[in-house]
Amino acid sequence: MNHDVIVLGAGLAGLAAARDLAAAGSDVLVVEARGRAGGRVEQIALPDGRLVQLGGEVVGRAHTAYLALAAELGLTLVPSYVAEPGVMARATPEGVSAGDPPHWFGPGDDAVHRRVTAAFAALAASVDPDDPWSHSGAEALDSLSVADWLRSEGASPAVVRLWEIGQLALADGAYERTSLLAALRKHAAVPGDGTTGHYDYEDWEGLRVAEGSATVALRMAAALGERVRYGAPVETVGISRSGCTVRLASGETLTARAVVSALPVGPLRSVSVTGVSGERLASLHRQRQAVAAKFAAAYDKPFWRDSGLNGLSESEGVLGSTWPQNEGILSALVPPERYGVLLGMPPGRRDTELLADIARLYGDEAHRPLRTWIRMWGTDPWTQGYVTQWTPGDVMAVGPLHGTHEPPFYVCGSDQWVAGYMEGAVRTGRAAADEVLRHG
Ligand SMILES: Cc1cc2nc3c(=O)[nH]c(=O)nc-3n(C[C@H](O)[C@H](O)[C@H](O)COP(=O)(O)OP(=O)(O)OC[C@H]3O[C@@H](n4cnc5c(N)ncnc54)[C@H](O)[C@@H]3O)c2cc1C
Repeated sequence: MNHDVIVLGAGLAGLAAARDLAAAGSDVLVVEARGRAGGRVEQIALPDGRLVQLGGEVVGRAHTAYLALAAELGLTLVPSYVAEPGVMARATPEGVSAGDPPHWFGPGDDAVHRRVTAAFAALAASVDPDDPWSHSGAEALDSLSVADWLRSEGASPAVVRLWEIGQLALADGAYERTSLLAALRKHAAVPGDGTTGHYDYEDWEGLRVAEGSATVALRMAAALGERVRYGAPVETVGISRSGCTVRLASGETLTARAVVSALPVGPLRSVSVTGVSGERLASLHRQRQAVAAKFAAAYDKPFWRDSGLNGLSESEGVLGSTWPQNEGILSALVPPERYGVLLGMPPGRRDTELLADIARLYGDEAHRPLRTWIRMWGTDPWTQGYVTQWTPGDVMAVGPLHGTHEPPFYVCGSDQWVAGYMEGAVRTGRAAADEVLRHG
């Protein structure tokens, strides 16, 4: 059967694109490899009704596309962990400390930290997040890592360490291996008010959907109904103005006037795409994701509050961070640099060893969760990552084709925005639908 548009992938991006196309009257079909919708957003319910998010979870007040979609779906935004009482904790091999400054800071480090933070924000103001390639120093900024830039600005090892532990807490690639231009672009996209450092938690992470983040995807999928085909991995895509073909692993061939790829960059590399320019394929194939795992532990109560802590932590253990996602439920991330350590752990030991990291921060009660979950997104065949990553040289190599289209082939997905995130998925998904409709 011939469709107007076939959308590849039923994550937030593909669903947001399909929803707008269907609303505009297009005959749209979404093909999804997994047996469920949502991709990197996924949730399960505990018997007591609490929802546990195993993937994307929080959004910020600057995430306007996501917030608008949530409102259209009738969902409620509530403050996330940022509203938790207490202070954050930091753990390194030589100690654990609560609040600021971190325990490894010495005299003068705080002043240097504030100085380089202001210098970073000033430099970011010179970058256009939609066109970082037009910056007069783009190539030089892209060739430098954030950590090298910090050292060139006179940052002490203690300050570089604070920036790095914060970056690995987000489970992004290490600042030792992150392009300065990419980091400036991300900051320029959501600059904050200049008082909260180089990553404003309110702007990026201050809110969550009370009904569960994965509910955003589930509601869209439910409304699309049979227009989403599950268990349908795509293997081959042929693009032509006279008609496009999409061949599934089952051997079935579908046809449409246009194709919207909402696949993560890793799985997309395994799909054979013809009829699209070599430059576009090279740009898409050059993108990468940081690999990460998420660990969640459900307790009967938020026991970390008893010690004046808010459950937020940055750590140099196997876990890079923890934060409370819901009453008594802790989320944690294993960053790319430590993903190999997690893979090497005998599976039967993983819970015990990750809970030991949490106990080091919050005490022995951490060893007694009601339930735990480990989601290995970095080696999930349909994700192969976690969030977009830009190592030095990547911004220039991917180039200005990033996030653009070649009708009748359109791309969307969080990898096609500056820095990933659910905002990137929704924003690019809806933008791709607009483009399809504009080209008729
Ligand atoms: C652990 C974790 C925590 C996160 N935390 C946050 C957070 O707190 N806040 C935030 O904003 N973002 C967060 N993110 C990022 C955010 O979840 C993602 O960026 C976003 O959900 C990606 O949406 P997407 O539609 O672009 O891609 P995906 O959700 O990856 O969707 C792509 C879809 O394509 C399907 N697919 C893949 N290959 C094929 C194929 N060959 N054929 C057919 N279908 C295929 C996949 O199964 C998937 O359903 C997190 C991500 C993870 C993994």
